[in-house]
Amino acid sequence: MALTDQTSELPNQPEQIRTGPLTDRFGRRHTYLRVSVTDRCNLRCQYCMPAEGIEWTPRKDLLTYEEIVRIVRVLAGEGVNKVRITGGEPTVRKDIETLIAQVAAVSGIEEVAMTTNGTTLPKMAQRYRDAGLKTLNVSIDSLQPERFKQITRTDKMDTVLAGIESALAAGFAPLKINVVSMKGVNDDETADFVAFAKDRPINVRFIEFMPFEGNEWSQGKMFSYRDMLDAVMQRFEIEPLPHRPSEVAKDFKIVGGQGTVSFITSMTEDFCSDCNRIRLTATGDFKPCLFMLPNVSVRDRIRAGGEDQAILDALQESLAGKWEGHPGPQQLIRLKNASMIQIGG
Ligand code: SAM
Repeated sequence: MALTDQTSELPNQPEQIRTGPLTDRFGRRHTYLRVSVTDRCNLRCQYCMPAEGIEWTPRKDLLTYEEIVRIVRVLAGEGVNKVRITGGEPTVRKDIETLIAQVAAVSGIEEVAMTTNGTTLPKMAQRYRDAGLKTLNVSIDSLQPERFKQITRTDKMDTVLAGIESALAAGFAPLKINVVSMKGVNDDETADFVAFAKDRPINVRFIEFMPFEGNEWSQGKMFSYRDMLDAVMQRFEIEPLPHRPSEVAKDFKIVGGQGTVSFITSMTEDFCSDCNRIRLTATGDFKPCLFMLPNVSVRDRIRAGGEDQAILDALQESLAGKWEGHPGPQQLIRLKNASMIQIGG
């Protein structure tokens, strides 16, 4: 299928209205920055990375830690208060705990979070925590060794499970477990994951499968929020928890247990109306929405000698183009976008 340029398919074309550095034309304030630090990963998840692989970005093109911290400092001065470190796999970047500590030390940053595949956690969970990491999401899509191997094209399930134990021991609570739910792949494990979380400080988060370049998304593989709910309720009683502003997940308590379960319903019930997220790619581009192309290079402006104001200008330009809401999956599969590993989840 031919991919189309995003500009010809925008659901709502941007007007250039300036409303403050963190605010877009729909009045949404972007206080949550998601920073991808690399496009490399030590797993090869089928839904995240094309089978043929990707061409790794040369080191010199990646933002340095110094550049990332500067961008965070400037944005925190305007009100950004949460930063997520992601990738690729963020922990394959050297000394990631140094970046965690430097970002955590920026005045105004209240929460540093990280999303990881968990493979470094057996050795490093406590060090990440000591560096100032507050929230940790660990991705694991199957609790069955053969299936884990098939999904990730690697044999590291035991390491990830050991990593989850290390993260709990290090005090990450609740520890968030991300599961991408796919029909015919792991949908039959939905209740098993709830059982895994039930009696521990674990928040299991089921994510609807989203289309990205090269991940062979199809409607048939969609295991929707409603499907997931049905699967959970066949074995567990759950009760909705109050919705928190800008929280993307629908949260539920597992009755009789300590754990919680959440659903990220990007494909069937989007949560764009109070979106507060802006993304920074590993190569230093702002990306206003997960499904939009990166649109302004802050790296180039910094490397050309730009002052701090140039960082704010780059953000404003990026946000000026942000959609009011992203299109549905049938339109998304026709839009150009990178694969998830390149975007940073
Ligand atoms: N390597 C880290 C990890 O494995 O968590 C961080 C990067 S990964 C791209 C971030 C999150 O995006 C993971 O939880 C992953 O499962 C999720 N993800 C990747 N591709 C996805 C897709 N097509 N649909 C839904 N979630 C996806």
